[in-house]
Amino acid sequence: MSHAEFLPFARPDITEAEIDAVARAMRSGWVTTGPETKAFEQEFAAYLGGGLQAIAVNSATAGLHLALEAMGIGPGDEVIAPTLTFTATVEVARYLGADARLVDVDPITLNIDPARIESAITPRTKAILPVHYGGLACGMDAIFTIARRHGVQVLEDAAHALPSSAGGTLVGQLPSAAAVFSFYANKTMTTGEGGMVVTKNEALAARMRVMRLHGISRDAFDRFSSRTPAWYYEIVAPGFKYNMTDMAGALGRVQLARLPAFLRRRQQLAARYLHELKDLPLLLPADAPQGDTHAWHLFVIRLRGDAKVTRDEVIQHLSDAGIGTSVHYVPLHRQPYWQGRYGLTPEQFPEAELAYQRMLSLPLFTAMSDDEQTRVITALKACVR
Ligand SMILES: *Cc1c(COP(=O)(O)O)cnc(C)c1O
Repeated sequence: MSHAEFLPFARPDITEAEIDAVARAMRSGWVTTGPETKAFEQEFAAYLGGGLQAIAVNSATAGLHLALEAMGIGPGDEVIAPTLTFTATVEVARYLGADARLVDVDPITLNIDPARIESAITPRTKAILPVHYGGLACGMDAIFTIARRHGVQVLEDAAHALPSSAGGTLVGQLPSAAAVFSFYANKTMTTGEGGMVVTKNEALAARMRVMRLHGISRDAFDRFSSRTPAWYYEIVAPGFKYNMTDMAGALGRVQLARLPAFLRRRQQLAARYLHELKDLPLLLPADAPQGDTHAWHLFVIRLRGDAKVTRDEVIQHLSDAGIGTSVHYVPLHRQPYWQGRYGLTPEQFPEAELAYQRMLSLPLFTAMSDDEQTRVITALKACVR
């Protein structure tokens, strides 16, 4: 197999429409946060059904940091998160001097296990950070029940969940403090780098808007378009530099308009994988409950106990066939920093451990052709037994 036709694990879906929109932003003379970003925020909130504040940022990591800061998380506090996630979910707690309590996942959904959240709660717990793994929303009713019982807040890491729904409600409209979406290159839509925080809480939104840009009480665009003298601003806190550029905002607007088509394509690709791979000794990803939407950011397969090949052998076979894969994720309890800080052992996370040993993520992206997917399916059928 020629590697000239290497099929990557993910590839952004960028057309001339996105390129034109970015070029228009560049030619407009306003390249930092401005009219494109503002319109993107409004369109994003409308996409999720409105009644929300949407705050565009330069990454989901920045958005998670802003949200926790606005929620009042600080030194000595604890947040609860799944071990099977990207480090960004919890590193932001450390930025604020807080700590993370990592918990195991549900073996079917690979989402945080609500039963284990309860036993991780301490008097220092301030927030639960569910991650909608792969685009399958967590069982949020159980999480909100625990949060209310213990008086802790919920911040959703919705990096994979555009769009996903739980109990018929879109992620972004659920009654959490905030939800944070990612527009990183391989996510369900991209702005190159970028993210969006959504919340229904006006006070949280106001704090995040201020902290997004140096603690300035109004952002540059407002400053230049209001009656206040252009040169005047007030610093009310030591803020961050997390605002989105108008090139990214312009790119995001075009991607957002294409999101319904992106979702349909992801659903098609996922349905075909589910159908074609069902007779192999694999654990296929759980679909969303009837009536709910799975964003299908990832398609994670796991080798069953009766499979005669290892995960690493499957990855090697696919790689030899010119097919890229990935592993989501090396669990955080295995990462030197988190393992060492909390003295974690694999035995504390049996489900994430088992999943990790046997999982790989297949190529799944909207620009992928049916023929490309056939190559993946054929290569898997040739090696998984
Ligand atoms: C991608 C990702 C993030 C971080 O997103 P960025 O926009 O790259 O900062 C956070 N959490 C999860 C689960 C992710 O997959």
